[in-house]
Amino acid sequence: MPMRNNTSKRKIRLSIMVVLGAALLGGVLVMRSYTEPEKHPPGKSYSAVSLRKTIKALAPLHEKLGKPKPGDWLERFDEPGQSFAQYLRCRPITPTKKRTTIYILPIGKFTKTQDKVLRQTAEFMGLYYCVPVKLLDPVADKLIPANARRTHPSWGMKQFLSPYILSKVLRPRLPKDGLVLFGITATDLWPGKGWNFVYGQASLRHRVGVQSIYRNGKPDDGPAAYRQFLRRTLKTATHEMGHVLSMLHCTAYECNMCGSNNRQESDRHPMWMCPQCLAKLCWAVRADPKMRFKKLAAFYKKAGFKAEQNFCEKSYKALGGKDDKTGENTDKKPPTPRGKPKNEPGKSARKSS
Ligand SMILES: [Zn+2]
Ligand SMILES: [Zn+2]
Repeated sequence: MPMRNNTSKRKIRLSIMVVLGAALLGGVLVMRSYTEPEKHPPGKSYSAVSLRKTIKALAPLHEKLGKPKPGDWLERFDEPGQSFAQYLRCRPITPTKKRTTIYILPIGKFTKTQDKVLRQTAEFMGLYYCVPVKLLDPVADKLIPANARRTHPSWGMKQFLSPYILSKVLRPRLPKDGLVLFGITATDLWPGKGWNFVYGQASLRHRVGVQSIYRNGKPDDGPAAYRQFLRRTLKTATHEMGHVLSMLHCTAYECNMCGSNNRQESDRHPMWMCPQCLAKLCWAVRADPKMRFKKLAAFYKKAGFKAEQNFCEKSYKALGGKDDKTGENTDKKPPTPRGKPKNEPGKSARKSS
């Protein structure tokens, strides 16, 4: 959790809200300035009519959000929530003919294991959002000048200033066809004076975000540690992407779009989205929810995420899918090599920036 030195817990949590709240306000501005109303044909699986049926079919598989525990996000902050109907009314950000692709930009150096996590994150983002993803070649962290980096005064780790990365590293590099440009760094981030650190920060107005994997664990400490590291990285990336698509924090169910005030809380929330948030996602990117579950189940099976795989298989069946196909890994191809991008949904590739 982001922390300040020598300050009360209340102040610490307020600081977290400031960063995330700023992102949400940006999202509201974007909703009004960038989007145009979009109507999907009623017969399509991603139409509002069809997605309302999807919500009903999936609801029994989901757990309503209980009373917040002390220190939880909703115990600290009042949030309005956002139903599928409310989402449609806010004219959300969606991909367009011109704005088609999620770009991920690694910043600085990564270990071999971290690099594997980046590739899996790119693949997963494509499957989760049903939007083409391009994993760009890394940029050197020398782009970040001395006045935007520091050594933490008490703990001693190297840190980068996250607002600098958003405004000076990512914004100028957002490609013309970019739905979003996400930076990922293995170096710790801090958002400014008085702060100890932050996991990530987004500027939705400009469709850029950055996250650090520094505090996600030790992926080389065996298979369970690797899965935990990967799970945390995937959850942060997909949660932030939800905000880019104008999704507010979920207050209805245990859901990937729930706000998190600390590591325990964020680990507790699932990787999947609740029916309301899933409907938003599928409507925004015009995705067939059933096929999405099938593809995600295959990813989870390959990654060793059993609970997530089971959840996708159950959801697939609840939407009328045949169980003999779920979880089947039909993608036998090795990861796409660096420098050979493939502009296909569900695939990842690196491309020079
Ligand atoms: Zn959030
Ligand atoms: Zn939700």
